[in-house]
Amino acid sequence: MSEMNAAIAGLQNPSLNPCLGDEIVGRINRLGAISETPAHLARVFLSKEHRAAADLILAWMREAGMQAHLDAIGNVCGRYEGERPGLTCLMLGSHYDTVRDAGKWDGPLGLLTAISCVGDLNKRGRRLPFAIEVTGFADEEGVRFASTLLGSRAVAGTFDESVLGVKDSAGISLRDALVQFGLDPDHIGAAARARSELLGYVELHIEQGPVLEAQNLPVGVVTAIAGATRLAASLTGMAGHAGTVPMLLRRDALAGAAECIVAIEEFCRTDAGGLVGTVGYIHAMPGATNVIPGQVSFTIDMRAPTDAHRKLAVADIVRSIENIAKRRKLVLQLDVTHENRTVPCATWLKRQVSEAIAGEGYPVFELPSGAGHDGMAMIDIADVAMVFVRCRGGISHHPDEHVEPADVDAGARVLLRLIENFRPRSAA
Ligand SMILES: [Zn+2]
Repeated sequence: MSEMNAAIAGLQNPSLNPCLGDEIVGRINRLGAISETPAHLARVFLSKEHRAAADLILAWMREAGMQAHLDAIGNVCGRYEGERPGLTCLMLGSHYDTVRDAGKWDGPLGLLTAISCVGDLNKRGRRLPFAIEVTGFADEEGVRFASTLLGSRAVAGTFDESVLGVKDSAGISLRDALVQFGLDPDHIGAAARARSELLGYVELHIEQGPVLEAQNLPVGVVTAIAGATRLAASLTGMAGHAGTVPMLLRRDALAGAAECIVAIEEFCRTDAGGLVGTVGYIHAMPGATNVIPGQVSFTIDMRAPTDAHRKLAVADIVRSIENIAKRRKLVLQLDVTHENRTVPCATWLKRQVSEAIAGEGYPVFELPSGAGHDGMAMIDIADVAMVFVRCRGGISHHPDEHVEPADVDAGARVLLRLIENFRPRSAA
């Protein structure tokens, strides 16, 4: 766009701050530099990097005209009052912890976009008939204490106190880590918010998958955060000499596991309803070149856009694994290790996201989220919606994670339009 055209566009749409995308990208880079190790981004819950990142985000919130504080679990919380103080809020947010050797966009993009949108309203002196709160969740990834969504669960009032005793790899319990950080583990309840305080929760996030890129679209509307079932499987056969036991007399646990893995893949590939299944871990015993594997353990991760679909699929897969084990005379042990429900995005809120996308001139495209997000916890106190932003190659949880500046700007304009046109459910 020429300078003249940019000026005209600015005049036609005074709400459009041409620097929004630039500001967000600049901040993404500054936040991405706060890391345990300079070469590999890692910013885990209650670390000194967590503190440094929180201080920076709090400063940006205040600069955007918000009241800002750190809550009882270490979330950063900003509030931009509406036309009068004390109004119910539309909550926006995302997380600012990372996995190890992370990309810098997963989490921070949604958080920093929300702050920049509020900053833009503030610059124009624009107050809305509701308050806006921006929450940066301190722990979504669950890297340090092997328990995810600790930040948003505290806000939703569903924090499980038994996690306080869980220790990190250095032997420090969550309770001690909170104290060292300067927080009181007995006051986590103070971070909880009530349903009556929120009009809804909207999160912008990178897609972390390749669908929007394939559609050639910068943004999309999320239909649901897919629920997941994880299972631990173990097959026991009989170990034996790789040279002496004839093929027909073998009970090879690894060959059996291989058949199960291919069966899972086939089952999911032929499903038209968005089912995905992954065997991401396998361990064979005794694990020697010249020994028939006698015992194999592997994991199964199954996700689908609805709970009913996922449960049926899991039941079918369990049946086929049982049949494979039986035919191969292997002893099967199968345990569900993790199960979380599907979180559907609220129809009324999703419609407003779609309107904002269409209003910015993009086709409205819906897609499910295969990855988990803070909305999974927030659904307990608010209706939830999500905006996805395209990321290069669908790569995430990796240093190559990248979002084009033009897409950052597109996401920001969609979120700003959504905020400015937001109608609470009662009025929607
Ligand atoms: Zn994330």
